[in-house]
Amino acid sequence: MHRRRQHQPWSNWSRTVRCEVVHHAHPVNVEQIQAEVLRAAEEGERIRVVGSGASFSPLCWTDENHLSLERFTGIESVDVERRRVWVRGGTPLRRLSEALAERGLALEIAPDFDQMTIAGAISTASHGSGATFGNLATLVTGLRMVCSDGSVQQVSPATEPERFEAACVSLGALGVITHVELQCVDDYRLAVASRRTTLGTALATLEQLRRDHRNTELFWFPYADAVIVREFDPTRELPPRLMPARHALRRGIEGRVFRAMSSVARHAPRLTEPLAGLIASRVANRHEVLHAREAYPIRRYSRFQQLEYALPVDALGDALKSLNKLIKALDLRIHFPLEVRFVRGDRFWLSPHYGRDSACITVPAYADMAFDAYFAPIADILERHDGRPHLGMVHDRGADELRGMFPRFDDFCRMRRDCDPNGVFLNPHLAGLFGEALDR
Ligand SMILES: Cc1cc2nc3c(=O)[nH]c(=O)nc-3n(C[C@H](O)[C@H](O)[C@H](O)COP(=O)(O)OP(=O)(O)OC[C@H]3O[C@@H](n4cnc5c(N)ncnc54)[C@H](O)[C@@H]3O)c2cc1C
Repeated sequence: MHRRRQHQPWSNWSRTVRCEVVHHAHPVNVEQIQAEVLRAAEEGERIRVVGSGASFSPLCWTDENHLSLERFTGIESVDVERRRVWVRGGTPLRRLSEALAERGLALEIAPDFDQMTIAGAISTASHGSGATFGNLATLVTGLRMVCSDGSVQQVSPATEPERFEAACVSLGALGVITHVELQCVDDYRLAVASRRTTLGTALATLEQLRRDHRNTELFWFPYADAVIVREFDPTRELPPRLMPARHALRRGIEGRVFRAMSSVARHAPRLTEPLAGLIASRVANRHEVLHAREAYPIRRYSRFQQLEYALPVDALGDALKSLNKLIKALDLRIHFPLEVRFVRGDRFWLSPHYGRDSACITVPAYADMAFDAYFAPIADILERHDGRPHLGMVHDRGADELRGMFPRFDDFCRMRRDCDPNGVFLNPHLAGLFGEALDR
């Protein structure tokens, strides 16, 4: 096993969470994962398991031990008949969807970023968009984890429903998820259409937008009064043979243009309005046929951070109107679009979609921006509309607030204490989240 005992700098994807890790472990099998957890527990240390570090909140921050499953990846077994696979926790979604495609399979739904790992993604209830699809954890049919006493436990929804509902979305606080069993579907293709509309029209047709297509997502550019609607529908058409190359080339060119525009808008905020309009018009009125695994991810050309709240679907219209007023009043000229996505309700205790269908509003900000002045009033508005924060994105809520938002929050805290009485998997952020005091 590769063991390095030295102060090693680490940062998350947005580079907004930074720490110095004393020991970074890259186990290659389950026994090594057990050994790492046991060693930390016996030495009275804490350990944080890290995926690809895409979370914006300090879930993975530690000044002690990091455990990464980046060398513990791939599909371990396939049940062809039931279309189920057991996959190792460190597998990035891109590799997973490619490996599934080789077997004629695919994920039914996916988030818009395929660098995240499967265990990291389910641990924060990461999601794509589609009224009839839940967050990624809803595809999980079983998992295995290494617990704080070093034991390996298999958690199945049939035999331990409560434990399963807690463990699938557990922020790395109940143990290290080594394997996940996923229900897949036959591989499929999607026709993806983008069109431009106004906020007023989008608000007047929200329910239709949500229901009329397999997947719908909205990108709202407040300073251009433009909403780009992306609609995905299954198709038998094949992607043009040159599509991947053309797609990559176009994305590369657009990426450079977008980066340049961002830089201009950053330094000349009065240009935000025309630039937002220009960016919106570049992505409108497109139609393309893509393999599902190519349709979900969005390429990112600059670092940013974001906040997200999941609202009851009925609250979406009023929440967007309130946000519109606030953004104009604050005059914070952000040319990044705000995103609206739809997620079916689920039963995972720490999921923002617990027990209800959600409309999620995602608000980005430049990674290097002092974002409090922008995010704090937005979070207040979204909470007034009964929103629950995405725990992998920026938020500063602790146990007292979360208890009122997540109906099974106290049950999760109790289970966490039972699973990890000595707080081996805690860090200061998680201690605040669960209302625990860290004695060191
Ligand atoms: C560009 C970008 C786009 C994004 N798009 C979306 C999106 O479309 N939808 C969405 O919902 N979110 C999105 N996110 C948020 C983010 O991807 C999620 O928060 C996700 O959890 C990150 O996965 P990761 O593998 O990077 O995990 P990390 O950020 O490394 O870790 C996240 C949590 O999972 C835990 N964890 C990781 N591995 C394990 C394991 N093996 N066992 C137990 N716990 C583990 C960690 O301890 C931590 O608590 C996006 C983030 C970025 C940067």
